[in-house]
Amino acid sequence: MLTNAQLAELLAREAERESGVLVRAYRRAARSAFLWPEQVVDLIAQNRPLTELRSIGPFITKRIERWIDNPPKQKLRSPVIRRDFIALADARTFLAKHPAWMQLLRGDLQMHTRYSDGSGTIRHMAEAARERNYEYIAITDHSKGLKIAGGIDEKRLAKQQAEIAKVNTSILRAGGRVNVLSSLEMNLTPRGEGDMDPKALAKLDIVLGSFHSVLRVKHDQTARYVAALRNPDIQILGHPRGRIYNYRLGLKADWPRVFAEAAKLDKALEIDCYPDRQDLNLALLKIAKRAGCRISLGTDAHHPWQLEFIELGLAAALKAKIPAERIINFMSILQLKDWVAAVRRRMRRRNR
Ligand SMILES: [Zn+2]
Repeated sequence: MLTNAQLAELLAREAERESGVLVRAYRRAARSAFLWPEQVVDLIAQNRPLTELRSIGPFITKRIERWIDNPPKQKLRSPVIRRDFIALADARTFLAKHPAWMQLLRGDLQMHTRYSDGSGTIRHMAEAARERNYEYIAITDHSKGLKIAGGIDEKRLAKQQAEIAKVNTSILRAGGRVNVLSSLEMNLTPRGEGDMDPKALAKLDIVLGSFHSVLRVKHDQTARYVAALRNPDIQILGHPRGRIYNYRLGLKADWPRVFAEAAKLDKALEIDCYPDRQDLNLALLKIAKRAGCRISLGTDAHHPWQLEFIELGLAAALKAKIPAERIINFMSILQLKDWVAAVRRRMRRRNR
């Protein structure tokens, strides 16, 4: 039985063999396969058209049906640039066997709004969070250094914070339980430095820092990670490797050392659950598990519906056997705020 992840690999290989418009059609279908909500084999078994699925037309349907009827004999091993990505339908099949794990989830700690490059408002994201029964979400728009993504400066951040306070008040009045946390995905330089006034960051509920530049260098980047973790203004390091499906491998580092440093400082490394990223991935999560550092789950959603990507991170963390108490999204809102306060105190002591 071919899984959606295996079909994605077959589609990606077909793109490499083809030319012209078919290259793009197959590439798009390969990427979309990670998002299909159900297994292709199940749709076929139910006599449903595959065109129900994103990026599949009649032509690709025929190709997929041939693979299903006649699966490749040899084991499908993806090249590194496509390896260790989980498909949403596969994640759901896996998680359905572990319902207790799903129930531990309290919130999502990375998402974007119209303030930077997202399509929804703060309220839209809060409504999507309510539908998922969350206790909290963190709004993490880009900071001013990332111009290409419409990064915001201190003034806009303060405006956003005021808007978040209003949204929280109205949720409370309406009897809702979602807390919207003010946060930021601060852009980090390769030296681990941020681009915002620390005073503005100290007013936020939680701060994520991420690298968005110099992501194609091949030499060891351990020093960059250690510097970023020691940045006193962040508590979570976002999409640590900077990998993108079929596009970029991401950075290299002495990962046991990076995770050990995070454990020492009690900071969290993220599983960015965006299907193209899935960063940290399973292989690194297994190392993180041994080091005992904290893990954060963030969908990196740019549209409200994308909060469903969280299942990719939940599945990866469970497959890596990360203990529940290491996942900060399993904390209550009060525990989460206490943890942030403790990390901030520790960094102040350290830098005195
Ligand atoms: Zn980012």
